[in-house]
Amino acid sequence: MKGETGILPVSSETGWKPVSPSSPYRTRSEFKRAVDAWAARVKVSPEQVRIQRMTRKWASCSTNGRVSFSAKLLRQPRAFQDYVIVHELLHLRVPNHGKLFKSLLSVYLPNDISRQKGGSIDLPVGSR
Ligand SMILES: [Zn+2]
Repeated sequence: MKGETGILPVSSETGWKPVSPSSPYRTRSEFKRAVDAWAARVKVSPEQVRIQRMTRKWASCSTNGRVSFSAKLLRQPRAFQDYVIVHELLHLRVPNHGKLFKSLLSVYLPNDISRQKGGSIDLPVGSR
């Protein structure tokens, strides 16, 4: 495991209580808190999480552990927000959209939406 300097404390899986299971994250701080909670569940430690304007993608990640999300996500439905968060965090473990990536996605997310969107939300390192 890498050092954890600069990383916000994350609540444990059991300690995480979303406001409501289906209400979307509407602010950057809410969104970042959700990213932290998901990072704990997915067992990754992003070096930096940013929410910024992105033109063609919903999210991106870099090999040094920085994850960026489009500010437009704050106006998307909760299920899609969670999907993009988990998708991007999993890239810190699997840098492509291969079989392993898809099976991990299905571990953390209920079926459906991951298949719907596939790998089209971003362009991971080494994507094909
Ligand atoms: Zn991806």
